[in-house]
Amino acid sequence: MELLKKRIKQDGKCFDGGILKVDSFINHQMDPILMKSIAVEFVKRFATYPVNKIITIEASGIAPAIMLGYLLEIPVVFVKKKSPKTMENMLTTTVHSFTKDRDYTVCISNDYLTPKDNVVFIDDFLANGNAALGILDLIEKAGANLIGMGFVIEKSFQEGGQILRDKNIKVESLAQIDSLDNCTIKFKE
Ligand code: 5GP
Repeated sequence: MELLKKRIKQDGKCFDGGILKVDSFINHQMDPILMKSIAVEFVKRFATYPVNKIITIEASGIAPAIMLGYLLEIPVVFVKKKSPKTMENMLTTTVHSFTKDRDYTVCISNDYLTPKDNVVFIDDFLANGNAALGILDLIEKAGANLIGMGFVIEKSFQEGGQILRDKNIKVESLAQIDSLDNCTIKFKE
């Protein structure tokens, strides 16, 4: 997606450890016009599939997911990183956080992820794939069907994309980054 790549080049910032900061337009301050264009692109990529629910994980996946849910007119459910005492029929799994380098338990109610659901998972970044694999586990526990996964940014130099594609998961990434070496953002051609 050229518009997104242009914006990443212009406003993205590299940090040590292969981290890209996009918090001026995606995951702190958000550009809703760009977010809408991102969702339109996801619609194109998943348009031919019978998706009836979007799943994401808090917090940064929520903005692109809600935009996509709005355009497709289907519900969006986000996996929570803290377990509320009031959640009924809770399903849990453990996810390793790439940015915080720790494990945490995430949860979703089986009431909102059911065997009737054909879901697309949306997130801001794909790095090592831990969040995505956790979501896959929740989808399996819920008996739901995964249609595919959409990421705003995939860091192709990390292993997540390969792991998911090896599982025959349909992975759609709107900007694929090959390298952040020497603080230079190089996109996959
Ligand atoms: P994974 O689970 O694929 O290893 O990492 C994906 C999660 O970690 C995403 O939900 C995202 O929030 C965070 N993440 C991974 N890499 C980056 C990065 O380079 N920049 C930012 N801002 N977040 C990242």
